[in-house]
Amino acid sequence: MQSNASPLRPAILIISETAFKDPATDKAGNILRETLKAEGSDKWTEPWIEIVPDDATRIQNAVRKWTDDEHNNANMIITTGGTGFAVKDITPEAIAPLIHRPAPGLIHAMLAASLEITPFGAMSRPVAGVRGKALILTLPGSPKGAKENLQAVLKMLPHACLQAAGADSRTMHTGGVKKLEEDAGVSTRSENVSIALPHHHHDHHHGHGHKIPQAHTKPEDRPPRSNDPTLGASQRHRSSPYPMLSVSEAVSVILERAPAAVTTSLPLSPAPANHVIASDIHALEAVPAYRASIVDGYAVMVPDKASQKHVGIKGTFPVAAVSHAQASSMPPPLVEGTIARITTGAPLPANANAVVMVEDTAVVSTTANGFEEATVEILTDAVEAGENVREPGSDIQLNSLILPKGTFITSLGGEIGVLAAAGIRTVPVFTKPRIGVLSTGDEVTDISDPIPLSGGQIRDSNRPSLLSLLQGWNLCSAVIDLGIARDTPPGSLETVLRSGLANHNLDIIVTTGGVSMGELDLLKPTIERSMGGTIHFGRVSMKPGKPTTFASVPIKDTVSGDRREKLIFGLPGNPASAVVTANLFVLPALQKMVGLGGKRGLERVMVRLEGRVKCDKARVEYHRVVVSCGRDGGLLAASTGMQRSSRVGSLASANALLVLPQREGWLEKGEMCEALMMGPVIGFG
Ligand code: AMP
Ligand code: MG
Repeated sequence: MQSNASPLRPAILIISETAFKDPATDKAGNILRETLKAEGSDKWTEPWIEIVPDDATRIQNAVRKWTDDEHNNANMIITTGGTGFAVKDITPEAIAPLIHRPAPGLIHAMLAASLEITPFGAMSRPVAGVRGKALILTLPGSPKGAKENLQAVLKMLPHACLQAAGADSRTMHTGGVKKLEEDAGVSTRSENVSIALPHHHHDHHHGHGHKIPQAHTKPEDRPPRSNDPTLGASQRHRSSPYPMLSVSEAVSVILERAPAAVTTSLPLSPAPANHVIASDIHALEAVPAYRASIVDGYAVMVPDKASQKHVGIKGTFPVAAVSHAQASSMPPPLVEGTIARITTGAPLPANANAVVMVEDTAVVSTTANGFEEATVEILTDAVEAGENVREPGSDIQLNSLILPKGTFITSLGGEIGVLAAAGIRTVPVFTKPRIGVLSTGDEVTDISDPIPLSGGQIRDSNRPSLLSLLQGWNLCSAVIDLGIARDTPPGSLETVLRSGLANHNLDIIVTTGGVSMGELDLLKPTIERSMGGTIHFGRVSMKPGKPTTFASVPIKDTVSGDRREKLIFGLPGNPASAVVTANLFVLPALQKMVGLGGKRGLERVMVRLEGRVKCDKARVEYHRVVVSCGRDGGLLAASTGMQRSSRVGSLASANALLVLPQREGWLEKGEMCEALMMGPVIGFG
């Protein structure tokens, strides 16, 4: 089977701080290349090889480069290093969120082979699966372990890669498992056994400095801990084990995960405003459907200008007929030497080729009762053939494309008007997701609670604020208030999440709070431990909003029994953080899910600062501002004041977020800066 196909393209990613600094120290790369070579050049081409340090972002970028570019795709990516238990070992955490379809069987095969040699085989934490069309495997860092792990599964990999790349599995499986085994050159039990040794790192490089608040110890100097909440506060993680993503990386992860838009159709009335058109729409009727007058006046026969006989139209003519816009039948054909009175929008009589406006005419004589015009004088010779006439289809041609797929139907009426004019009764649109909003925390008190606050209680401001924001975007078919989940049972997080998703058939839940480093920050452990979900990221390099978490959970559909992936946005509890991160992360997901293509997220503009603002050297900062239009046409930005993430007032009246670059010092008054528009610009009038 394999020998008939062209060889597959492997890529090897060496993840090692030491090898990154000095590539000459790397041994694993060569050994893995040799191992592939031994299989034959008809199976595997020469591998691409790259070395990165133990840095989640760089690992992910390297993998994405080989999986996400149609023209530069690898069939298989094997990583080596960073799969052990040392604090710096983050390869599985970096790779797991990239996997579209996990392959636990390959992990099992690798571990089983290792365990036949030594119980230390259990000390590797491999990840395997398919991303796009490529298979990804994480091997241990020790060259021996890496080779043995690879050999344990290598014979099966061409088959897996071909299938992942889209080969027809039915054809491939003709002949059954026996045939597959023969083709792959394996017996029922592989003789290749391997040992997976933990990979150790001795590098103490640490990437991100922190501003306020700031820890004074390094993560690698803190003992390893657990996110199992049942173990109590003493065992909790003392630094976040989740890799830190940049904002744009986080948005890419979200957009990858957010499901594609689903098509439906809606009647034109009531109007399908705030939906995206799901397929090109062509005119079912021409506009106008007939030759129509643009003015009130007289339909005339203008002599042919090209002919020698052109004599103009000036003169007095009998008014032979009347054509009104409401007429259901056509007026009689115009007879040479007569004219017909016509109103705006009415059909031209046959033979007429122009309309003279009433302003260019005078009544000469009336009928006996004095009500009707008998003869009318045309005062000008300047009227040309075609003047004041709309030809059939000149506004909208029959069958022409009136609105392409992807057009957003605004509530401003323009798109609805075009659809109605062209005779479209049913509009193909994308459905909109259903979203729920949930607050978390024992201290959080609903605004309807009449009892005065006591102890550490605070008002729940996030939920009303986010419900309003989400409603205002008009991108969801339902925005459901899921109330407050308590940090302690009953009414605890898992129950509320599960019942929210099931009872309201939600696609997305947005939570706030419970994602920081406290022992009651339960969102991540609840999703990972109790709901079988996956945290795709748990930290983003931004201010405010660092602990922003994005996850998916598989939920069984009560009707079909199918498992469907639901998205959970765990936004930070601080009010400014919650709204900023909703704008940056929830919005693009919704835009994708409703079928909006092209650029997603808030609109970007450049603004001039009305006052100096301080930058943060550790993180990009989203500073809340009011953007207005100056009289000279430029946009001006004024800060809303103190920006601490707990200060909900920093959002009041803000319509934009300045994107302050990550650097030391200030942006001065009068300097230009990028801003993201959350609402309309304030005018100067
Ligand atoms: P947490 O991540 O749960 O520790 O929350 C971080 C901070 O945000 C704490 O000061 C919380 O009291 C506050 N907070 C959490 N949820 C809300 C909410 N729904 N409304 C206002 N503040 C909140
Ligand atoms: Mg909390």
